[in-house]
Amino acid sequence: MTELLKLQDVRMYFRVRKGFFRSVDVKAVDGVSISLKRGETLALVGESGSGKTTLARVSLRLLKPTSGRVLFDGKDITETPEKELRWFRRRAQAIFQDPYSSLDPFMTVRQLVEEPLILHKIGSTSDERLELVIRALEDVKLTPAEEFLGKYPHMLSGGQRQRVGIARALILRPEYIAADEPVSMIDASSRAEILYLMRELQEKHDIAFLYITHDIATARHFSDKLAVMHLGKIVEFSEPVEVVENPLHPYTQALIDAVPEPDPANRFRERRSVMGEPLSPANPPSGCNFHPRCPYAMEKCSKQTPPLIEIKQGHYVACHLYPGE
Ligand code: SF4
Repeated sequence: MTELLKLQDVRMYFRVRKGFFRSVDVKAVDGVSISLKRGETLALVGESGSGKTTLARVSLRLLKPTSGRVLFDGKDITETPEKELRWFRRRAQAIFQDPYSSLDPFMTVRQLVEEPLILHKIGSTSDERLELVIRALEDVKLTPAEEFLGKYPHMLSGGQRQRVGIARALILRPEYIAADEPVSMIDASSRAEILYLMRELQEKHDIAFLYITHDIATARHFSDKLAVMHLGKIVEFSEPVEVVENPLHPYTQALIDAVPEPDPANRFRERRSVMGEPLSPANPPSGCNFHPRCPYAMEKCSKQTPPLIEIKQGHYVACHLYPGE
């Protein structure tokens, strides 16, 4: 399988003013490389402020990176002007966190799902587009589709609204979808359903997914590869089972320890690490940017940035605890 999406050494810095005379660079993404094949899901896991959403926006070329390259289907689109990205806009789509704010409350389900077709001039007649809208609603299991066509977002449940958001993304038959916390704002009972639906649609249409989440437990079940981000950098990367069952980076260990334990027998297990408050990307620590929160920090941790290296086959970590750097 060839790579569909490739981000190479991407940096995304935002200049912000500090007082009257000074400005600083907020390093939202700081030297990240990822790749995705068709039909594959990469989960990006981390707390808010870790740079996940910014990286997703760069992958969709909604942001032009400060440095590094963005390649889609072998074409370098890093510097491509917006007016020449029409083909890419059709092939790459987004699913947003909050289905309520991402859907225009004054548009019906039919109008919402039909809008991308009109923007991309697909379907020559209204009937032809209606046919495609009905098929997209059936794909996301809003059936019978005819009953939903005339409804407005406020008439739907959170899960149904997110299904409309997915139908909007799917109707253009994209090859790549960035899903930014797609289930974090819907009720717990609908979350698994939506994630299973996305998985099903991915297999049916061979879509590559970037799944952005703070929840390492769902990332484990709904991804093929898992990358953990802290303050703009990837600190651990491997297959999901490997990362969750054998976490190497202290930050990954702390994220796993923070997952609620459903089994009462294991509820009081010993914590392996103490995390403290998230740090600001506007003022990242020197060396390993996790060192102020790390219970294993050594002297060199505040001076040298550990590179992301392969510790065992397919399992990468950026931490001075591991030999080989
Ligand atoms: Fe902790 Fe040092 Fe490893 Fe960073 S490099 S995670 S501070 S031990």
